[in-house]
Amino acid sequence: MEFIDLKAQYQYLKEEMDQGLAQVLESARFIGGTEVSQLEQRLQEYTSRKHCISCGNGTDALLLAYMAIGVKEGDAVFCPDMTFIASIEPACLLGAAPIFVDIDIKSYNLDPQSLEERVQEVKESGKFTPKAVVAVDFLGNPAELSEIRNICDKYDMYLIEDAAQSMGASYGGYKCCSFGDIACTSFFPSKPLGCYGDGGAVFTDNDEFAEIMRSIKVHGKGASKYDNVRIGINSRLDTLQAAVLLTKLSVLDEEIEKRGKLADIYKNALQDIVKVPQIRDGNISSFAQYCVLFHSEEEKDYVAQRMKEDGIPSLVYYPNPLHSLKAFDNVRQLHKGDFRNSQEYAQCNLGLPFSPYLKEEDQKAVIETVRKAVEEYRKIY
Ligand SMILES: *Cc1c(COP(=O)(O)O)cnc(C)c1O
Repeated sequence: MEFIDLKAQYQYLKEEMDQGLAQVLESARFIGGTEVSQLEQRLQEYTSRKHCISCGNGTDALLLAYMAIGVKEGDAVFCPDMTFIASIEPACLLGAAPIFVDIDIKSYNLDPQSLEERVQEVKESGKFTPKAVVAVDFLGNPAELSEIRNICDKYDMYLIEDAAQSMGASYGGYKCCSFGDIACTSFFPSKPLGCYGDGGAVFTDNDEFAEIMRSIKVHGKGASKYDNVRIGINSRLDTLQAAVLLTKLSVLDEEIEKRGKLADIYKNALQDIVKVPQIRDGNISSFAQYCVLFHSEEEKDYVAQRMKEDGIPSLVYYPNPLHSLKAFDNVRQLHKGDFRNSQEYAQCNLGLPFSPYLKEEDQKAVIETVRKAVEEYRKIY
């Protein structure tokens, strides 16, 4: 059994995929080209955004966004304590202070009330200027985007949507990537819209930000590539990856629907024994991963071991809350709040095999093993 069945997806799309890739190989145009501009246009339409700009990966997308809004030393950027480090890392490279915020244990997403408390503390301390919030659609579940937007407006901060895990998801009828001053996504292979290597994109309705990001991703180009007006980076989406994404985008909505159905099956079969992710009414998650929470770390380890014995893969997403990482030792004194929920999540979560191509009998086997293992564990301990 595969954890994420990319092989089955390729078999399903093989004809169109091979054709799209062959076209690029025959044209021998491996950078830029029609595939890249076509993909940007499709994604811009898909998300109803004014601009979509492709780039080398999701981390670069976030770097472009933080550079465009002018993040610098002396700024504070607020980030959920449970996410991948890339959500905040580029802001730290630019000299900002990362301020971690606890999550809501039902949605696993940034808790707006804790956010406002942290913002007020930073404001009162006077050491940093609250500059931006990065709202992560964790595991594909849209963040509380309108509540977070209100807090950003109230304290004059930018909102960056980290939609690396949520392409295809939607919040209140609007697609993820359509929120925030700038939204960022990743096309890493295991993401809901993944390519066959690295890739990413930024989205914005702001013409000025779009122009800045288009410049930065090409070494700070001005009117031309050799007329450099600022210090930038090199961050391109390969033409081959754009061809892969064009093929996959054509089935994205169909896949999101399948993901929703499979998630419902897990939920109905497991919610009496473990915590399952809660998706707010009116929202659609892209379920980049399906992670459940056991009662304790020991129970989770026991179940993971039993799954392994039955040949069922599982993964912890993620094992460490950001505030606990060594990389952030230098900002430890900034951590005021408690991280009760992100800590519980980190200790107790386990990702179950999940993809739109998960077979019915495989999902049944996962459910059976998890239920049996939990029963065993709770009998012994
Ligand atoms: C994957 C991911 C990123 C980074 O994307 P890369 O393409 O791997 O650089 C950023 N934020 C989140 C939440 C992610 O899951």
